[in-house]
Amino acid sequence: MAIVGIDLGTTNSLAAVYKDGRAQLVPNQFGELLTPSVVSVGKDGRAVVGRIAQERLVTQPQDTVARFKRKMGTDAVYNLGGRRFTPEALSACVIGQLVADAQEFLGERVDEAVVSVPAYFDVAQRAATKRAGALAGVRVERLVNEPSAAALGRHFSNEGAVAAAAADGYPPDETFCVFDFGGGTLDVSVVDCFDNVVGISAVAGDNHLGGGDFDLLIAQEACRINGIGLNALEASQRETLLREAERAKRELTDRDSHAFLRSSIPALPQVLHLTNKRLFELAEPLFTRIDRPLKQAVYDSDVPAEEISRAVLVGGSSRMPVVRDYLERLLAVPVICEEDCDVAVALGLGTYVGIKQRARGVDSLVLTDICPHSLSTDVRNPHPPFEPLASVLIPRNTTLPASSSRVYANSQVGAREARVAVYQGENVYAKDNKQLAELMVPLPRNASEQEAFTVTFTYDINSILGVEVRVHSTGEVTRRVYNGSSWDEG
Ligand code: ADP
Ligand code: MG
Repeated sequence: MAIVGIDLGTTNSLAAVYKDGRAQLVPNQFGELLTPSVVSVGKDGRAVVGRIAQERLVTQPQDTVARFKRKMGTDAVYNLGGRRFTPEALSACVIGQLVADAQEFLGERVDEAVVSVPAYFDVAQRAATKRAGALAGVRVERLVNEPSAAALGRHFSNEGAVAAAAADGYPPDETFCVFDFGGGTLDVSVVDCFDNVVGISAVAGDNHLGGGDFDLLIAQEACRINGIGLNALEASQRETLLREAERAKRELTDRDSHAFLRSSIPALPQVLHLTNKRLFELAEPLFTRIDRPLKQAVYDSDVPAEEISRAVLVGGSSRMPVVRDYLERLLAVPVICEEDCDVAVALGLGTYVGIKQRARGVDSLVLTDICPHSLSTDVRNPHPPFEPLASVLIPRNTTLPASSSRVYANSQVGAREARVAVYQGENVYAKDNKQLAELMVPLPRNASEQEAFTVTFTYDINSILGVEVRVHSTGEVTRRVYNGSSWDEG
């Protein structure tokens, strides 16, 4: 039984396998490597995925959906062709299609997938991604952070790994920064590579920043010069204009290229003339949003900035000259963007599949990852303003798997239950973080004194959360695994 690596992107998804001693990308039925992450449901109730679905964004917008990855881990519901779909059910359609393509490519059944997720995905989003795999009928044991996959692929590039393995050695040690800028998300990570280990030392990102935001700005500009608002257009016209904007954006491939957006929409007769300089002005607010995760990742990594050897750009939006220019000005290190930047994550996943299958040449490689968010519980605050404080058990950027215990006491004498809440986030006050869940733990009857209990949080290799509470007086243990929306018995 074979394993497939799936880069489940906001915009495009790819499949990779490890075959004939190297990571290989799987072409889809059109012979293309990128399958648009778009799902459309026809009158017959059948879901189609990819380029055909993408065409229907214009012809059948009410039955077609894109960018649903942004809603993973929420209870959003889409009504398509009279059927209801959750974001994970839509993701399952994409995974199912890629698995079918991989089976065709390999000529054998695929029963397991390694799926990549943005490093910044939280517990709920990760759990939803795992469920999407299950819905598509494949086992998902392992989620890999997208930038970690890209780092793995870049550090042990196929020929490099093979040559190094032949010489019984590894590529030279290095610390670099991976900047993954796709259609809807930005992830920055600092990667430390030594011997056979690719270790992620810090991640930071923005789940709502990507190439689509540039398309939107260009579309708005085209509307502005025509004196109307984007919202004045019908849904299908907006979709058409966004595509025209995206095409114009892609035409700005060189520093000094020009693009013209001649819209097919009658309400937009004026042609928009676009240059990289103008795009940079329009997108200034987006660029300032790139700074924060970049600085955060470098700061959190505890790596002196001068030890970072290069910035490796991956993701389709890295192709934009304005992005490369901006980073070159901001960073004091070489900024590298290779031709295959939008398949880098998938290639790394292919390598990971090889590791998982214990393939020769890559079987000794190790990928270590970290948790993206701090996990805390709330404790009483005896000082004004008396807002409960976040007591951190697992700080962000801890290497996975991680486990940490602390002893707490119930503050209410005689209480029959203790409440243990789990928060994720970096704020001092518990209420400013995101509450994931709470667990009620029974306390012994007749408890007259403050009851002490030990709380243990564990974060597994996929950043899936487990909680254990042991009441000291009784020794009773409550164990739960958080599935993203509720607790399962641990
Ligand atoms: P994701 O990981 O979000 O699925 P990708 O890495 O495939 O996305 O990147 C998709 C984004 O890259 C889209 O916003 C697309 O417009 C943008 N993109 C792809 N090629 C180019 C290009 N040549 N110039 C500018 N943007 C590009
Ligand atoms: Mg991507």
